[in-house]
Amino acid sequence: MSFRDDFPALKGAGRDFVYLDSAATTLKPTCVADAVHEFLTSGTAAVHRAVHSASQQATEKYELTRERLANWFSAKPQNVVLTHGATEAINLVANGLPGLKRVACTSMEHHSNLIPWMRDGDVQVVPVDRNGTLDMDALQTTLQQGVDLLAVCHQSNVLGTVVDLQQVVGLAKEFGARVLVDAAQSASHAPPSFAALPIDYLVCSSHKMLGPSGAGALIGTTDSLAPLKPLIYGGHMVDQVSLDGYSLRPIPERFEAGTPAIESVIGWGAALKYLSDSGVAAMSAHLDQLTGQLVQRLNQMPAVTVLGPSEGQPRGPLVSFTVDKMEALAVAKILNQRDSIFVRSGFHCAQALHEHLGIPTTVRASLQIYNQEADLERFFKALRAATLLSAM
Ligand code: PMP
Repeated sequence: MSFRDDFPALKGAGRDFVYLDSAATTLKPTCVADAVHEFLTSGTAAVHRAVHSASQQATEKYELTRERLANWFSAKPQNVVLTHGATEAINLVANGLPGLKRVACTSMEHHSNLIPWMRDGDVQVVPVDRNGTLDMDALQTTLQQGVDLLAVCHQSNVLGTVVDLQQVVGLAKEFGARVLVDAAQSASHAPPSFAALPIDYLVCSSHKMLGPSGAGALIGTTDSLAPLKPLIYGGHMVDQVSLDGYSLRPIPERFEAGTPAIESVIGWGAALKYLSDSGVAAMSAHLDQLTGQLVQRLNQMPAVTVLGPSEGQPRGPLVSFTVDKMEALAVAKILNQRDSIFVRSGFHCAQALHEHLGIPTTVRASLQIYNQEADLERFFKALRAATLLSAM
């Protein structure tokens, strides 16, 4: 029995593909599809609204996801704000934190952790080099100059860099900066812990954690969530409403106006149970082993240049690379057309990083627990053929 057996997308006729695009979105295990199916076919009701039993059962399931998220990140359930994705969660902080003037981030941030901070002014950008190493001296200098908030990814979606949060968050705290950790890429297999780190805010996304799309979370400490203004206004977030005004409900409800993505959140709850039953240690061991092989074998190909941490250094389960004399798009198309291998090509929503490193678009192969060595065999066979093709 392997993780792979739990993923229906990889089984049966017409499913003979290799999925290496999990950094974009993950496949879903059967238990997630079942939970969503069950809700849609026999449990549909609005949450937090009615006294009837269907609504109460839906609310219980919905709230269970909040509890599971709190457990996953060692946070408090009342400090888990359910959003429609990581992007919305970052926007909630960027728009909602009063007096936010000086923001710093790194040059390897996803657009979702860059543009929301850029909207209203300058962002101090701490550089990373081609190996994905964050310039700690530059970080210290930036923090010394005064920073209200540092926005940093836990794992880069392009370089695979794993940021040493102990060190980086610790340094930011020494200089009194708040810290937002974008855990979109690491949350499924290496969740940062509020119990272990002085993080103020963490964002994550269901669809990158084996759950459905349309749901995400902003998780914070009580002190860091308290000053935030809501991003969206409407039903459910208010206590008392008259034609003269309204009062806001406590956190997290005040940040959750409108009907949420109920089935996605319930499906996410099933994904979280699956992840916690699978265990961080087993998932990480599997992913580390495959990622090590992927990096090593790519490095052995003369036409390939691998970005990010060198072999043996910590790396999330993805590798971006360029191929001599071939555009990334062409490589991805050939792999798809000839061998049904699904990789991503382009800037991966991190165009500024590519520009900063002076590299063109890249091919990205990303892994999840359902990938196996056989996937890598097929990928390398196809990639070798593609590079030979270009040499002709
Ligand atoms: N941050 C990172 C590092 C990501 O990879 C992504 C998704 N590609 C996001 C943020 C945005 O997440 P979401 O799709 O939930 O808005």
